[in-house]
Amino acid sequence: MEWVDLRSDTVTRPTAAMRAAMLGAEVGDDVYGEDPTVNALQQRLADELGFDAGLFVPSGTQSNLLALMSHCERGDEYLVGADAHTYKFEGGGAAVLGSIQPQPIVQAADGSLPLERIEAAIKPVDPHFARTRVLALENTWHGRTLPLDYLQAAHDTARAHGLGLHLDGARLFNAAIACNVPAREIARHFDTVSVCLSKGLGAPVGSVLLGSHALIDKARRWRKVAGGGWRQAGMLAAAGQYALDHHVARLADDHRRAAYLAGRLREIAGVDLLGQYTNMVFIDVPAGRLRELDVHLRDAGIRISIGYLPTLRLVTHLDVDDAGIERTAAAFAEFFGRG
Ligand SMILES: *Cc1c(COP(=O)(O)O)cnc(C)c1O
Repeated sequence: MEWVDLRSDTVTRPTAAMRAAMLGAEVGDDVYGEDPTVNALQQRLADELGFDAGLFVPSGTQSNLLALMSHCERGDEYLVGADAHTYKFEGGGAAVLGSIQPQPIVQAADGSLPLERIEAAIKPVDPHFARTRVLALENTWHGRTLPLDYLQAAHDTARAHGLGLHLDGARLFNAAIACNVPAREIARHFDTVSVCLSKGLGAPVGSVLLGSHALIDKARRWRKVAGGGWRQAGMLAAAGQYALDHHVARLADDHRRAAYLAGRLREIAGVDLLGQYTNMVFIDVPAGRLRELDVHLRDAGIRISIGYLPTLRLVTHLDVDDAGIERTAAAFAEFFGRG
């Protein structure tokens, strides 16, 4: 039996067609800027999202780090959601490796950073304070899309104070599909955008950072410093190209399946459905039954992650089909049905 793995959309494995595209990729040494497949991927996303240039990097964490290090100098500060990936889930990299101070901002329920909290957090120009340089947002955040008018307002607020804007767009294309706009319509509010190819898009490895020539030149230097200068990376870039060609529109299927699963779970006494956003379903179950539930689901060939977030998060992706969702709904119903 194939696992139905709902822990994250990072667990997808490259399809046979993606593997074929990787095998056939033209390659060169990317540190010399000579990998044609890497160059094509970078330029394609830059053009699509409205930027000068792109930089292909091993991970979203490195992409966000390079962006912050390119916006900021030592002793600068970035404003970031208190529950944002770039603050909470990246090992403190900006502070540890970039000497950049995070200023976390408590987020509203939809993931936005309230504008008055942003303004209140911006430091005066004074030797006592770090220099506030950049506002970092995340979209989607825990599956939630930031409203387009909020993006405009956050952009205007940041600009009024001379701040740069970075978007952790690990799931930018999920946001674009959910908002029914081209991804560029979201990206245009930012100086830099980081996009993950290894989440719902289904590539095995890689993120792309987009920005101006000046920012991407800086980021390329920091990528080398961080040990991320890679060589014949075109085989990985080919997977990214394949994902962008074939796996963007189908993100809507993941959203549909998540909505369907949420509807089924809502009917089950014992499951508290907290919400469903794009490809993520959040539920609470009685804490005392968590371990037992995990064993029951594993016996049914279903994996969920337990103990990572305070609530349970079920994530749909390329490797979860309608049958997998049915199996999951049935396993939950069986578990809670027997009381
Ligand atoms: C996964 C993720 C990242 C980091 O990507 P990695 O490739 O795992 O380092 C950054 N931001 C968000 C919102 C993510 O979901």
